[in-house]
Amino acid sequence: MSKRKRPQLDMAKNKTVFVCSECGNESTKWLGKCPACNSWNTFYEQKIVETKNKEKITAGSTPQKLNSYEAKETLRTNTGFHELDRVLGGGLVKGSLVLIGGEPGIGKSTLILQICDKIKGDGKVLYVSGEESAEQIKLRADRLGINNEDILFLGETDIDIVNQAIINVNPKLVIIDSIQTMYSDEITAAAGSVSQVREITRASYESL
Ligand SMILES: [Zn+2]
Repeated sequence: MSKRKRPQLDMAKNKTVFVCSECGNESTKWLGKCPACNSWNTFYEQKIVETKNKEKITAGSTPQKLNSYEAKETLRTNTGFHELDRVLGGGLVKGSLVLIGGEPGIGKSTLILQICDKIKGDGKVLYVSGEESAEQIKLRADRLGINNEDILFLGETDIDIVNQAIINVNPKLVIIDSIQTMYSDEITAAAGSVSQVREITRASYESL
């Protein structure tokens, strides 16, 4: 993961939109009832943070001949789990984001910790937890027989601090357990809401 400047959120242009906290439906004006999910009084005002992404889109908006592109073999990193590599299409793609979902207690955190231990390549793994303490994760690691110098732990829910840590550590892999516990002051919506999860995923992805 290359060191890239994080987006200048404070310099961004802010617009306002109204978003349904139930389903994420957006509207330019406030609505008492959501036309998408029929919930009442779920619309709240939200600032849209526009980042420099727009430039990129404009720059690439002229259609080009497909055969003029150079197809590069994507660099993939083995996770240490054959079956997981297969599901990912041959391993983790550098600079990509993978969302791991599933019922509570299904073993997501255990699998993630094992990936942290087994993932190939140089550099550190940054494990960010907004749910569990370092002690809880250390206990799990001990139970799994994991004692890996390259795994760094950060107990944090403020995505701006997390992003700064990513820039400082420049890790080969970042774990965020879990995305819905993270929040940003930039977004005026509750942690875990559709807007927060969407914007935080975008923000943390851009700091990779
Ligand atoms: Zn709705």
